[in-house]
Amino acid sequence: MAPHRSKDPVPVLGPPALGKQKILDLLKFRPIDFAEIQKSLRENAEEAAKVKNGENKVEFSGRSLLGTLSRDAGIIKDGMRVSSAIAERSDGDFVYLLVSNFALSSTTVEEVRMHFPKGARVKIKHPRALCTAKGRVIIEIHNPMYIDFLGIEVPDGLTVEKIWEEASAALEKKDYVRAIHLLTRCIDEEGYKNKVEALSKRCQAWLGLNCYERAFEDAKRAHVVDSTHRHTYLLKGQLFLGLQKFRAALDSFYRSGLADDDTMKRCARLIEQRDTGNYELREFILGKSKAPEVGDYLGPVRMGMAADEEKGRGLFATEEIKAGQLLLVWNAAAVAPREDLPAKLMRKCLTSRKSLFQFLGLDSELAMEMGLFKPTNVLIHDQQQDYIWFDAVPAIAKLCSSYAFQIEDKPESPMGLWTLPALINHSCVPNVSQQMVGTALFVRAARNIRAEEELTLPYMDVKKPLDERMYWTDSRWGFTCKCLRCRVEARLHAQRPEFPCFHARMREAAKRKDRAEALEELRRIAVEVEDQIATLASPVERDWVRTSYYLAYRAGLLERSSDSPAKLSSRVSAYQMMAALHATCPGYGIVREMVALAKSALPSPGMEAISEKSRLLIEKEFLCVLGEQKREFLDVFVDELLKGADFDILRT
Ligand SMILES: [Zn+2]
Repeated sequence: MAPHRSKDPVPVLGPPALGKQKILDLLKFRPIDFAEIQKSLRENAEEAAKVKNGENKVEFSGRSLLGTLSRDAGIIKDGMRVSSAIAERSDGDFVYLLVSNFALSSTTVEEVRMHFPKGARVKIKHPRALCTAKGRVIIEIHNPMYIDFLGIEVPDGLTVEKIWEEASAALEKKDYVRAIHLLTRCIDEEGYKNKVEALSKRCQAWLGLNCYERAFEDAKRAHVVDSTHRHTYLLKGQLFLGLQKFRAALDSFYRSGLADDDTMKRCARLIEQRDTGNYELREFILGKSKAPEVGDYLGPVRMGMAADEEKGRGLFATEEIKAGQLLLVWNAAAVAPREDLPAKLMRKCLTSRKSLFQFLGLDSELAMEMGLFKPTNVLIHDQQQDYIWFDAVPAIAKLCSSYAFQIEDKPESPMGLWTLPALINHSCVPNVSQQMVGTALFVRAARNIRAEEELTLPYMDVKKPLDERMYWTDSRWGFTCKCLRCRVEARLHAQRPEFPCFHARMREAAKRKDRAEALEELRRIAVEVEDQIATLASPVERDWVRTSYYLAYRAGLLERSSDSPAKLSSRVSAYQMMAALHATCPGYGIVREMVALAKSALPSPGMEAISEKSRLLIEKEFLCVLGEQKREFLDVFVDELLKGADFDILRT
């Protein structure tokens, strides 16, 4: 989540360095044959022999290659990425195609062969040719949009009707790539009668591969020929649904007359959620249902530059906001195991131009147009922007290391990238809380927020002493937190030599083998901290410091011992500690701590009737995590929690 900070900000939105004419020039392809490549490479052959594999590169931008895949595809391991190698034939010569796995996301031979079946005719735009030391020609392809499938080679004398039959069978078997190749043969056949059907089916095959933009092209072409074609409307509905364009999806489903009731209702629900931010999560919270499907929601939030220059960009409230109000609901751009995330994000760029621009914008250091994040705004693939794709490869690799984070704090937990929430900066006194619902991130105001105030989140557990917080922000994210709480505590550290010692003593206590001794020392520390802060005039500053030494306070309040010489509970009550946590880091997984503290104040363990004011405080905490809820639901929830229920949603 930490923002990536490079020294030289690069403006990326819109065509960056290249002017319009240059782009158009790049798009003027002319076919060349392999002999031409080999000639160029031969001229450099002597040079090539001296250098290591792959270092002598010849680029053929503005040209394209035509050929037929004459061998089965294979896989080779190439450093970080897995590439699929396939052979091309032209006049009896072989050329190897290396398709970067960033673009393909396929890791098995079967998958690669499915994408590149033997006999497929392909056109490759912007070829980059390499000559290895052995004189072998390799064409690199990082962007699958640079490969156009021109249909598959079929035996001589095969009628178009027979090809159509084979295509239908392939589609039935979900062999989408083969279906696309065969249907392309039908579509390209002069005067073919079934053109609309063929385009519609090819659209369906592209949808099967999640290639929304190519599917959209075919749907458009089908409707040019027959604007009433119902099956194409049905496919268009699915396509728009995949792109989160819900109104257009509903409209297309309606026109098709073929969509079932559930699909129509699903669209209507997603539209309502997106427009109103009204999400029904009760069943999910109580663990009675799976995480519901949710559409993205953009509340009163804008992007801007933080006052503290080191922080770079941040998100800001555009109006006054009440605690509990929903600010963002954001689906992950992709979720995958760490090593597969770049490939998944690349695939995402193929299905949505908007994602590509968001990624490139994230990689820059500049505040972006909020229009790019509006859920209603969907950019469809624009042929002229193909070249930007290539820039996305390094950008995405960087995003994965700077902005992606794990869904759960477990080593095996998958990683995800949530584009807009990734820009929320850190504070040790945060004002928003976030909750994972499936793979969607819900961001709420955790306290009242003024208009134009910056939104902040804790990047880690902030119930820790200043030194430890500083260690984490510096070592993991490379910045020094300058939030008000850190500044207040830094002043205390400078003025009173006891404070740096407290942290050292806490660490020593944690190492002790004898648990009773460790707890005793922690209790003593809490009492001493409490004595130190008694003179602080500001109650909220006292709360911040208490939260910093929560581990010690916890020992003093939750694990009391009757013969304890250090009496923390006579100085500070469990309720005061609850209030301190609430004032410092509301909504961030402290509900269960609060329940434990509330119960500790009871005369005998096991009693569930906590004090009225403790209960109210816990309810207030829920507001920060879950937003406004109905009274009866809140009662059920708090009661369950007091009985010891463990709600997954409260895990952080
Ligand atoms: Zn701080």
